[in-house]
Amino acid sequence: MDLAAAPPALLTRRHLHVAGDWVDPSSGDTIPVENPATGSIVGEVPAGTPADVDRAVAAARAAFPGWAATAPEQRAAHLDWLHAALAARADEIARTVATELGTPLKLATRVQAGLPLTVLRTMVDLAARPAAEHTVGNSLVVREPVGVVGAITPWNYPLHQVVAKVAPALAAGCTVVLKPSELTPLTAYLLFDAITDAGLPPGVVNLVPGTGPVVGAALAAHPDVDLVSFTGSTATGRRIAHLAAERIARVSLELGGKSANVVLADADLPTAVKVGVGNALLNSGQTCTAWTRMLVHRDRYAEALDLVAAAVAGYRLGDPFDPATRLGPLASAAQAQRVRDHVDRALADGARLVAGGPDAPLPPQGHFVAPTVFADVHPDSALAQEEVFGPVLAVIPFADTDEAVAIANNSRYGLAGAVWSADEEAALAVARRMRTGQVDVNGGAFNPLAPFGGYKQSGLGRELGAYGMEEFTEVKAIQR
Ligand code: NAD
Ligand code: MN
Repeated sequence: MDLAAAPPALLTRRHLHVAGDWVDPSSGDTIPVENPATGSIVGEVPAGTPADVDRAVAAARAAFPGWAATAPEQRAAHLDWLHAALAARADEIARTVATELGTPLKLATRVQAGLPLTVLRTMVDLAARPAAEHTVGNSLVVREPVGVVGAITPWNYPLHQVVAKVAPALAAGCTVVLKPSELTPLTAYLLFDAITDAGLPPGVVNLVPGTGPVVGAALAAHPDVDLVSFTGSTATGRRIAHLAAERIARVSLELGGKSANVVLADADLPTAVKVGVGNALLNSGQTCTAWTRMLVHRDRYAEALDLVAAAVAGYRLGDPFDPATRLGPLASAAQAQRVRDHVDRALADGARLVAGGPDAPLPPQGHFVAPTVFADVHPDSALAQEEVFGPVLAVIPFADTDEAVAIANNSRYGLAGAVWSADEEAALAVARRMRTGQVDVNGGAFNPLAPFGGYKQSGLGRELGAYGMEEFTEVKAIQR
């Protein structure tokens, strides 16, 4: 058997990580971990309690003054050691995400394990040279760590979303209590194995697994948490903002999206469609930045639909550990059902099915949904407005650039987007008019140093790079 392609061994964990130690949870309750490609239970983790949160927050609070006073170069050195310890586990991380989430192993290796390492590397560099102090008139303006951070993360990129919070928080001098998603807690345990190996000071990062309504809510409401950094659904983000508002705590929110991929008449259509379909289906469509609305100029619309159908036909569903698999299952039975409900609703609303749909063939077990494309989707319809979070693409025609921009901006979300045109200036002009936090022109590559975050109901604040680190700071003015 090829060990590198096998599921990981350790799938049951019994402890929390508090004040630098693996400790017993206050309750014996557990949460099962499912492999969504088979539907079988592969392990379990503790169900944390509010008492566990209290204990972890107290540890983070106690560690804060020392960590905040640690020299930037020393904090960078700690993050560098953590990078090495995490890199040593890259294969195990990929296999664990393939098991608990169902991401195909090849993609899990490149994105689920690779991207957090890339992001952590950027934070090693940023930690060593924090933003310079500067003077404004008679004031010295300094940045200080905000304090204790409560980090609450989702399941779709389970390690990336954790590292995108923990690394800049530590770089800025904050201490952290993490509550990972209850669907994908095992990857977070691997991070804490690495934290143990790296010898981070006790209490600087703490882990309390558990459900959102219990552990997540206790963390968001905790009087000693200074900033709540959340990634997940807009509905949960709203609840967290309410809880934090009670004590005027800071919140950073990375929420949902319904991003538009605008294909202008002079675009390189085969490339725009190939990249666009790949983006929409990435991680079975469970990606907050997914370009789930493809807007195509009427002159190229029929041609584009043919290309979309051909591209989608190349996505093979199956076992995440099979190298031939391009699309894994959805993360859970509930997520698969939500996606199927969106598909049924789109059919009822009169969208035209171009690929996939409820009758497409599926693997015999697991939470699979066939990649599905609808054409002639009305820009106001549910499918064009609501985040599906599955492999479902809506194709919408437009008559001219103004209409394309209007449709792109006809959303309560504004997280990502794309523009394609042979005329880069024209594409840039459209990109500037889109009310969204990121836009890729002609397939511009993902940049781990670029600010990442949403306009409108896609969120508050920015992650990644210098902007992401600034998020974890307060600003002080000292007059002389
Ligand atoms: P969610 O928002 O419910 O969960 C995200 C995190 O918040 C998890 O750790 C969860 O335990 C926690 N949480 C849940 N309820 C909470 C509460 N009341 N207080 C504090 N924390 C709470 O997301 P989900 O249920 O995993 O997925 C549902 C939908 O969210 C998806 O269909 C998708 O649309 C969206 N989603 C978006 C992203 C994103 O990156 N923007 C990621 C995952 C899910
Ligand atoms: Mn799972």
